Amino acid sequence: MELKSGVKLSSTMAMWVLLTTAAEELDAETTAIWAMLTVAKEVVEGYGVEFVITSGCEGKHKKNSLHYQGHAIDVRTRDLPYHQRSPCAEEIHRRLDDDYDVLLESDHIHIEWDPKD
Ligand SMILES: [Zn+2]
Repeated sequence: MELKSGVKLSSTMAMWVLLTTAAEELDAETTAIWAMLTVAKEVVEGYGVEFVITSGCEGKHKKNSLHYQGHAIDVRTRDLPYHQRSPCAEEIHRRLDDDYDVLLESDHIHIEWDPKD
C-alpha cells in the first residue's frame, strides 16, 4: 500500500498514521483500509476498551496472507470480556460491507479487505 506521497506503509505505526489522515486525501484502495481501521476503532472503543492493533503488515502470517499487502489487521481482544468478543467482531463485520472478512481468533479479531468481484 502506498500513499500518494509515495510513502510505503509497512508497519502498524504506519497504519496509525493512515488512521489519522483525512479520507479525502486517499485513493480508493487506501480509503478501503482507512474505513476498516475507522470502523474497527469505533466499535472496539464502543465497548469501552482501548483499540490496539497487534499486527499490520509485519509479523508472521499464512502464506499469501492479506497482511503482507497491508490489507489486514489484527485487533487485540484480551481486554474485552470473553462474551463480548463475538458480538464485537460481528458488529465490525456488519458495519463494513461484504468486501471485508472479519474473523474472531483466539486472541485477536482479524479484519481484512478482500474485495469480491
Ligand atoms: Zn490476521
